[in-house]
Amino acid sequence: MKLQIAIDGPASAGKSTVAKLVAKKLGYIYCDTGAMYRAATFLARKNQIAYDDDAALKKLLSEAEIRFVPAEPEQKVFANEVDVTKTIRTPEITNNVSAVSAQPSVREILTKRQREIAEAGGIVMDGRDIGTTVLPHAQVKIFLVASVHERAVRRFKENQLKGIDTPLDVLEQEIEARDYKDSHRKISPLTQAKDAVLVDTTSLSIDEVVNKIMEIVEKVQK
Ligand code: C5P
Repeated sequence: MKLQIAIDGPASAGKSTVAKLVAKKLGYIYCDTGAMYRAATFLARKNQIAYDDDAALKKLLSEAEIRFVPAEPEQKVFANEVDVTKTIRTPEITNNVSAVSAQPSVREILTKRQREIAEAGGIVMDGRDIGTTVLPHAQVKIFLVASVHERAVRRFKENQLKGIDTPLDVLEQEIEARDYKDSHRKISPLTQAKDAVLVDTTSLSIDEVVNKIMEIVEKVQK
């Protein structure tokens, strides 16, 4: 049976890293829904639309194409034919994406698109509301958490490889601020689905987290 696997959790909890590895092991598609909200934020900025202008964002996104293109070592993200894979990870986008993702029309349009991508199963989808809203019937639901300090350290190391020099204490503040906004918005806030398995990755290696998830998947497949 081709499953739907939902991986949710706060910023920098390791969702995309483990989701990609689980998808690879199973031969499933990986869908990074955060990248879709980031691409929407990129388009808003490019078109000089305020990040909280729901009506203008609705018009923009109903005509926009946000898509994933398979590539090695990583799939690429395109917004209206522009490769935004790198741009959507910059602090300007990261620090404004929560405002865009809180808009009702943005959520409606992207949730619909995410459901279409996941329809046939064989998918690992990560985000904030996959287990609660996008795929409430997913057979496997994981909620990944880690301490703020640990998440900031991980983001700091990732940033260094990309030449981004944000100090650790600023990253901690940014992560806390984004968690707060994502958890307190009106529509589909970040919250653990009742039937999701909580996995705290603070002191676990990537392999340990992947193995834990694979054990859960194997139980469901039996
Ligand atoms: O996962 P990532 O950090 O790339 O997500 C970027 C932002 O996109 C989150 O902070 C959140 O505001 C938004 N998001 C969301 N719902 C999702 C995935 C991401 O609101 N399913």
